[in-house]
Amino acid sequence: MPELPEVEVIRRGLATKLVGERIVAVSQGDKRLRRQAELPELESLAGCAITRLARRGKYLLLRLDRGQTVLIHLGMTGRLFFQTDHCPPLPHVHFVFHCQSGHKLLYQDVRRFGQVLLYPAGVTPPALAQVGLEPFSRRLTPEWLAARTAGRHRPIKNLLLDGRLVAGIGNIYAAETLFAAGMHPQTPVGQVSLKGWGKVLQSLRRILRRAIRAGGTTIATFADCEGQSGLFAVQLRVYGRAGEPCPICGTPIARLVMAGRSTFFCPACQSG
Ligand SMILES: [Zn+2]
Repeated sequence: MPELPEVEVIRRGLATKLVGERIVAVSQGDKRLRRQAELPELESLAGCAITRLARRGKYLLLRLDRGQTVLIHLGMTGRLFFQTDHCPPLPHVHFVFHCQSGHKLLYQDVRRFGQVLLYPAGVTPPALAQVGLEPFSRRLTPEWLAARTAGRHRPIKNLLLDGRLVAGIGNIYAAETLFAAGMHPQTPVGQVSLKGWGKVLQSLRRILRRAIRAGGTTIATFADCEGQSGLFAVQLRVYGRAGEPCPICGTPIARLVMAGRSTFFCPACQSG
């Protein structure tokens, strides 16, 4: 599932190409996504120019010159492609935004958990109200996290995954962050010290920055807008490595299931 770095890599790759393009038509595939706008709604975008491609958490926001927003969530397997007329057709394409230049923006999603929704001018997509602070936001500080988690027993890994406090973190980057911070994934958030939150934040930001620079993580189907796979998987230190030696101390990496998700950690380095 694409997390913040993958979505950010896609945003940066697409923004340079899409901004300034004018949509002339929208067409649709025959299968439906989990949540999607109806074709006549999207067809109303004909004539609109794309002014900006933004990101909030794992959402991409296509801003148009008449104030509308197309909200895109890639779900498990969603991919965006920017194509010229010469590209071969792709399977599992749900939407095609045809541009005046002859280029096309395609949304493809094999498992169809993604979302493509349209909001009129002046309407903030309701899903964004649930999105927490951006990891690079200056408002996100150890003090802010400590104040919001005081007295709570929830395991830190589940809180990081939740997205309502800190946006955009999924299973991979939660595991890598907690390993880098030396914190056990089951640590109750109310017991994390200010220093502990400082370490978590610093690790999170460093890992996200590196992942964005490396082009995101290659797990299953993530690829950027031109179909190039991310390279960060080679830098994953605990995720998906159960039984392999910890890169720091050599103890076998352990796996446990938390909130239905696999959690990877070093029992020695992250003893809590
Ligand atoms: Zn270790």
